[in-house]
Amino acid sequence: MSAALKSPDACPALVLNADFRPLSYFPLSLWSWQDTLKAVFLDRVDVVAQYDTKVHSAKFEMRLPSVVSLRNYVSHSRAPAFTRFNVFLRDSFTCQYCGSNARDHLTFDHVIPRSQGGRTTWENIVAACSGCNIKKGGRTPREAKMFPDRAPKRPSMFELNERGRAFPPHYLHESWQDFLYWDCELEP
Ligand SMILES: [Zn+2]
Repeated sequence: MSAALKSPDACPALVLNADFRPLSYFPLSLWSWQDTLKAVFLDRVDVVAQYDTKVHSAKFEMRLPSVVSLRNYVSHSRAPAFTRFNVFLRDSFTCQYCGSNARDHLTFDHVIPRSQGGRTTWENIVAACSGCNIKKGGRTPREAKMFPDRAPKRPSMFELNERGRAFPPHYLHESWQDFLYWDCELEP
């Protein structure tokens, strides 16, 4: 193997929907080479492009796919999961109170505080920088005179995907660990 070739673990495949648009823009839909090969052998995807890196077994040798497309179209009409990551994406990683987009300091805020009966729902959670979160404290928008930029609501998959298009792919790689950490379902 030439030194210029990447190791298989550095070869994720970009996953396209059956319409050849990425399944998701942000995070960019990527599969590990293992998951990708599994899908290839199960005839669930077509290989669109390949890396130079090959994998071998006793029976076969093949170049790892760099881009695959799903055979069956995945509809984006389903409701997106209610996760911290998707809340941040809906709000474009921007504090809904002051407009700051310092991602390191981004938290999420209950618009109506939990202490006043506010629930953890799409309609009551917004992205907020830690400064605004502390400043607002346990007060309602009216009490704090701090109102979210946009009235929070549940986004469609289409809206989330459109937001995600604003983020260049490399943004994901830097924050891959963050993404794994953030993308867990929130408590109802
Ligand atoms: Zn802020």
